[in-house]
Amino acid sequence: MINKNHPIRVSFEFFPPKNKDMELSLWKNIKRLEPLNPQFVSVTYGAGGSTRDRTHELVREIKSKTSIEPAAHLTCVNSGVEEIVEIADKYWNDGIKHIVALRGDKTIGGKKSKHKLKYATDLIKLLKNCNNFDITVSAYPECHPDSKNMEQEFDILKKKIDLGATKAITQFFFNTEKYIEFVDKAIKKNIKIPIIPGILPITNFRRTLSFSKATNCSIPQWLKRMFKGLDSDPKTRELIAASVAAEQCQKILNEGINEFHFYTLNRADLSFAICHILETRFKKL
Ligand code: FAD
Repeated sequence: MINKNHPIRVSFEFFPPKNKDMELSLWKNIKRLEPLNPQFVSVTYGAGGSTRDRTHELVREIKSKTSIEPAAHLTCVNSGVEEIVEIADKYWNDGIKHIVALRGDKTIGGKKSKHKLKYATDLIKLLKNCNNFDITVSAYPECHPDSKNMEQEFDILKKKIDLGATKAITQFFFNTEKYIEFVDKAIKKNIKIPIIPGILPITNFRRTLSFSKATNCSIPQWLKRMFKGLDSDPKTRELIAASVAAEQCQKILNEGINEFHFYTLNRADLSFAICHILETRFKKL
């Protein structure tokens, strides 16, 4: 079933904890996933810079307390050039060289600056001007809600690569064929960077449904049927979620893609189980 000649590579995404309890729980989860030898773990950045210090702190701690390479998400919407340069310098000086460069979603307010950044492309340009960061970007197999069509998606992805992006992580999806089609089209368009599938193990189906509306992620009918009637049955939901995500990964593996990014929502259990099913290699610590 699994091609042993191509070891599976994984990465995990976390968000900065809001309080001490969340922090303790997060570290248990990071430590649980560490032996899976991830390529990197990334830490999200709150809209409009709302988690600026907490993101930085967690990224720094991952670097100093674990053997994993951290990647810091950074968004530019509502931020000024000066602010981004300051953040970039701080990361570089702390030895953090991998940035997931994003536009982010517009929030009301934001810092006053004459030189606002509009798109992820502006951010990549600026970061590369600051230092030779390793840049990962977003990609949208089902089209970003702001994009006119898929052609625009590919054009923007190409632009990001021309500016120096070396990897893309996709928005989460459940229609795996759409992802496979996206990668096939990207290859035909001479896009050569890895387009890593963003896998969301479903911890809360209701929340996933509302999130999917905002992100333009289609929810297949079969998935709705699977979770029907399970609102107060978290144990069964977890079993289904692990099985759905593992099957998604297996379909993708069959296409020769062996790298996965897990949106963990700060909970290791499901990602850990899925990695076991996929026989991800363990590292001795
Ligand atoms: P962009 O790539 O800038 O694209 C946004 C829209 O603008 C698209 O329609 C695009 O086609 C268009 N566009 C882009 N560049 C240009 C250009 N030069 N000229 C004209 N049009 C252009 N959000 C957070 O707040 N924090 C996070 O930590 C975070 N992490 C994420 C991680 C991943 C892997 C993904 C997929 C998303 C993440 N998001 C995060 C969500 C993201 O911020 C939103 O999806 C946001 O709406 C778009 O950001 P982007 O970088 O993809 O935008």
